[in-house]
Amino acid sequence: MDQQEWESLCDGCAKCCLHKFIDDESVVDAAPTDYLSQGEKIHYTNIVCGLLNTKTCSCTKYNERTKLVPECVKLTKDNLQEIFFMPPSCSYRRLHEGRGLPSWHPLLNKGKKSAMHKNGMSVRGKTVYDHDVEMEDFEDYIALWPMEDLD
Ligand code: SF4
Ligand code: SF4
Repeated sequence: MDQQEWESLCDGCAKCCLHKFIDDESVVDAAPTDYLSQGEKIHYTNIVCGLLNTKTCSCTKYNERTKLVPECVKLTKDNLQEIFFMPPSCSYRRLHEGRGLPSWHPLLNKGKKSAMHKNGMSVRGKTVYDHDVEMEDFEDYIALWPMEDLD
């Protein structure tokens, strides 16, 4: 699979552009992490990266994203183990877990995202920008909908 084919697997839902937090009572200051310890749980919020176009659910700085946003992870075949923080509906996670692509995936809908939006599987219409909120109030923004999946 070449890079173009790999990238086409992405549904473009932008759930991975949401800020996520790990419950850990022992940590005073929040810091980025790339692993999940036993017993820890990820909480998704509806706070989204300021570089996202929330209507199209696409990155406005795609080619510079990892430079501009260090936490922005470029998912490759080699770092799939980092998939633990991807939502259950993420195509890469689904394929990794042997669940195949869902019926609403753009690849199965003439390349269009409308079925995905219609089924509520993208972030469209559900987010606030990180530059518009106080990040220490993140608990007020915890959201369950990013964890939803639909075959
Ligand atoms: S930089 Fe772009 S791809 Fe990365 S989290 Fe922000 S909006 Fe998403
Ligand atoms: S969650 Fe997965 S499928 Fe959805 S935009 Fe992010 S990488 Fe693509």
